[in-house]
Amino acid sequence: MFDSLSDRLGGVFDRLRGRGALTEADVRQAMREVRIALLEADVALPVARQFVEEATEKAVGQNVLRSVTPGQQVVKIVHDALVEMLGGTPGAGAPLEAELNLNVSPPAVVMMVGLQGSGKTTTTAKIAKRLAGKERKKVLMASLDVNRPAAQEQLATLGTQIEVQTLPIVAGQQPVDIARRALQAAKLQGFDVLMLDTAGRLHVDQALMDEMQAVADIARPQEILLVVDSLTGQDAVNVAQSFSAQVPLTGVVLTRMDGDARGGAALSMRAVTGKPIKFAGTGEKLDAIEPFHPERVAGRILG
Ligand code: GDP
Repeated sequence: MFDSLSDRLGGVFDRLRGRGALTEADVRQAMREVRIALLEADVALPVARQFVEEATEKAVGQNVLRSVTPGQQVVKIVHDALVEMLGGTPGAGAPLEAELNLNVSPPAVVMMVGLQGSGKTTTTAKIAKRLAGKERKKVLMASLDVNRPAAQEQLATLGTQIEVQTLPIVAGQQPVDIARRALQAAKLQGFDVLMLDTAGRLHVDQALMDEMQAVADIARPQEILLVVDSLTGQDAVNVAQSFSAQVPLTGVVLTRMDGDARGGAALSMRAVTGKPIKFAGTGEKLDAIEPFHPERVAGRILG
């Protein structure tokens, strides 16, 4: 993950640190290189541009250049800007929204949305496993995907594997009816969390949005998580923007981070959509999911 960005920035930083004194021109040159590195990592152009503008302003505007270790200070400015770009830290004023907000009288409802093939069903099971295991929650999963053949069975199979219950399948029911039935079952049987795996489609379209809205109206989820494939880079960010405009997303899950060497989706997501990345999918196995901590990810990028 972020391999070439990491290498590129490492090179820029080594050159900066290697010099005792820095001129404004040195800083501007370094920032130009940072900008190129971000663009090569597939960061959205306006995001890269703003990042570099702000970081440059800080680096040349304050007493950085007159300080004893100007290189170090510029590196710190870029580090802090990177953390901000990835979603911020509590100390910096931005909330750390890495985990889920399930603080309601049960059942808390988590609705998973996304395009087909993004990893939505797998991610539903991964999060359910995490909640049931680490947090000892009683979790019920229900698939509302009546379009894709065997989607409901796929979730049931995953449920068996991770020992999390799934809503019994009733043939011929529509998503809204399944959502209603799931909510009722969760209430009656004392589940802490209900996870709804909604249908995906190949493209963002109105029918998909209408269906999600109807389900959300009934289920009133605490969390609506959009699952997107990080390998699709800026497309993932565009998909997130489309969904975000139509449903009140509470966060994003980026899947296939294990195969994503560039990291552009992760780097642009917050700035473009305003939504926090809550989890990163890091493999096919059902425990291959991590909370997304901007500080830690920035640390990984900067080595
Ligand atoms: P859905 O159509 O969005 O529900 O997608 P699925 O959950 O069926 O996932 C599609 C494929 O992507 C499956 O083969 C998953 O194992 C795989 N997958 C999902 N998440 C990840 C991930 O984080 N990393 C990797 N390498 N594969 C993933």
